[in-house]
Amino acid sequence: MTKLRLAIVGAGPAGIYAADILLKAEKQFDVSIDLFEQLPAPYGLVRYGVAPDHPRIKGIITALRDVLDTGNIRLFGNVYYGRDVTLDDLKQHYNAVIFSTGAIKDAPLDIPGIELPGSYGAADFVSWYDGHPDFPREWPLDASSAAVIGNGNVALDVARILSKHADDLLPTDIPSNVYEGLKQSPITDVHVFGRRGPMQVKFTPLELRELGELNDVDMVVYDEDFDYDEASLAAIDSNKQIMVIDRVFRKWRDGPQSDDSQSGASRRLHLHFFAGPIEVLGTDRVEGFRYERTEPDGAGGVRGTGEFREVAVQAVYRAVGYFGSPLDGIPFDERRGVIPNREGQVIDDHDEPVNGVYATGWIKRGPVGLIGHTKSDAMETVRHLMNDQANWWSPVHPEEDAIVTLLEQRNVEFTNLKGWQNLDEHERALGAAQERERIKVVPRDEMIAASNG
Ligand SMILES: Cc1cc2nc3c(=O)[nH]c(=O)nc-3n(C[C@H](O)[C@H](O)[C@H](O)COP(=O)(O)OP(=O)(O)OC[C@H]3O[C@@H](n4cnc5c(N)ncnc54)[C@H](O)[C@@H]3O)c2cc1C
Repeated sequence: MTKLRLAIVGAGPAGIYAADILLKAEKQFDVSIDLFEQLPAPYGLVRYGVAPDHPRIKGIITALRDVLDTGNIRLFGNVYYGRDVTLDDLKQHYNAVIFSTGAIKDAPLDIPGIELPGSYGAADFVSWYDGHPDFPREWPLDASSAAVIGNGNVALDVARILSKHADDLLPTDIPSNVYEGLKQSPITDVHVFGRRGPMQVKFTPLELRELGELNDVDMVVYDEDFDYDEASLAAIDSNKQIMVIDRVFRKWRDGPQSDDSQSGASRRLHLHFFAGPIEVLGTDRVEGFRYERTEPDGAGGVRGTGEFREVAVQAVYRAVGYFGSPLDGIPFDERRGVIPNREGQVIDDHDEPVNGVYATGWIKRGPVGLIGHTKSDAMETVRHLMNDQANWWSPVHPEEDAIVTLLEQRNVEFTNLKGWQNLDEHERALGAAQERERIKVVPRDEMIAASNG
């Protein structure tokens, strides 16, 4: 029986689901899977993207951990593809590789002033509050008013974490430096700006509704944004999700928390719609945000009205999407920030398949969609991989020990599944001491030390 030696690069949900699906698939060959992850901890954006106060979603980690714990997958943590292992190495040791490297950077927003001190990418802020080891430990939370540009779930995550009182985040796994940073934040007003109308938002009803439940935070919405056009009314009638979103807004508009009658909370979260970003204002640092009122264009989009407005803020967060990073030796679509592929089979500049190379998850499809979507993604990619046996690589070192020897020869300080279990236990113990479920360890050397027991 043939054996498939498979490398998967990236231990986020996409990579772990791909391994799981392949192991469970009916097949004519044996499989052995090595999962390479640049961090000492697996789970990608479930650990380093999903907000700490979303424990139900973070709970998906339990299912991912069950896959790793079956013992059928070797995890090589703290191994960076492109530096510690290369494409040539993979070709020498495996029959094929699936890249599931996701996205960790912010998509650009090209408006004047966006580079000013005090203007931040949401992805960087998320990486800070979720304790990603490759990001600075300190975050300058010195603004009393902040703008968040964007109308997706990440914009709402950022706005919520900025507005929430640090003590209300204590039951979560936030690292100590994040708690301390948020604790001294002088923020009173967070303004979220979306170019389109309230019925064209990209966020989900649950995330929206949750904003209204924040302790000591008033929701502020503006009547001028709710003069629905026909397309919006039709959307409410035909789309259940939009109907629920409309209901949430209606409650805020009718309730005691609309713009003219707030409950007197110490913080306010304002939602502005029909507000297209024009400029981040300031000379040496952010002093304000300029936007143009937009209106429906009758064709499902919006157009500028020529009316410009300014709001004084000391920080601007752009939450306009994530963007994938190129990988050494692998084709990359610079415009979309993905590995070009046909249903997971990587293709080159001439649309020809690149033998042995596959992609799945956000790096395959772009940074949209929920964790669950990475499962269907992985099914598609694994199906192609399995049907492609004739085009797999023929490695000269297929023995399982060979890659271990190579990493050791290169002095790569790699961790393994046991190492992750040690780190996991260590974080839980840190949490237990303060009656919390977990406290994340942030510095990479401390993560590795805990992994090594
Ligand atoms: C802020 C935010 C909040 C979110 N909240 C939710 C939510 O509440 N619910 C929900 O369902 N979805 C949520 N998502 C979406 C969800 O996180 C993604 O759908 C999912 O994580 C994508 O999985 P992935 O495996 O493709 O990528 P990732 O999760 O990004 O995993 C990629 C992995 O590859 C590793 N890697 C990258 N480069 C290399 C390299 N060169 N060498 C080795 N390893 C590498 C990374 O370290 C990472 O571990 C959220 C996303 C973000 C950004």
